[in-house]
Amino acid sequence: MNKRGNFIVIEGIDGCGKSTQTKLLSDFLSQNEHHIILKKYPEYGKPIGDLINNWLYSKDYDFNVEAQTLLYFADFIKDKEYLENNLKNGRIILSDRYFTSTMVYQRIKGMPISKLNILAQTFGLIKPDKVIYLRISPKTSFERKLQQKELDRHEGDKKFLNVLFNNFEKTARECNWEVVDGERPIDKVTKDIINIINKII
Ligand code: ADP
Repeated sequence: MNKRGNFIVIEGIDGCGKSTQTKLLSDFLSQNEHHIILKKYPEYGKPIGDLINNWLYSKDYDFNVEAQTLLYFADFIKDKEYLENNLKNGRIILSDRYFTSTMVYQRIKGMPISKLNILAQTFGLIKPDKVIYLRISPKTSFERKLQQKELDRHEGDKKFLNVLFNNFEKTARECNWEVVDGERPIDKVTKDIINIINKII
């Protein structure tokens, strides 16, 4: 029987390097004979992800916090069997954001973590084996994202970015996420993450 795989989530505010690092980690681990599954949430380009994306960029309508929460949950729940089967088959799943992001964003909007955990339990959400939080300042986030693209309703709001940073810090402490300094050069950040991952795979 295969050894069970690992579910690793890379977290942090926009621009902290989640996509850059998940891609680099996937290349590195694949070269070292690991079978990698890459995920990115929300899953834009799929029906639920597109609903979320339309809301994020909409100036015409808003969802209340409960509806937002359930949309994000639906995006994770739809992959439950897929994630579980891959873990059973020994794969390493690297995910750019997950339920862990929902915890941070929705608690800011007034949904307590205790309620989110009840929902996660009710729906049988797959638990990550490790959450790695790439820490950068709100200032770095804003500068990096500005160079990249049009900003959504969260990314363009500097005040919200500060609140988001504080809540990432708080949630990381409460939930024992591994913290990696994302302000360092890309290759140094990758090295730090590999050291963490090597201890569990
Ligand atoms: P996220 O997925 O967290 O939003 P990205 O990986 O898309 O972040 O990175 C945002 C931008 O910052 C990209 O242009 C990327 O090349 C750059 N970047 C990522 N990590 C670093 C780093 N450690 N130092 C400098 N720039 C970085």
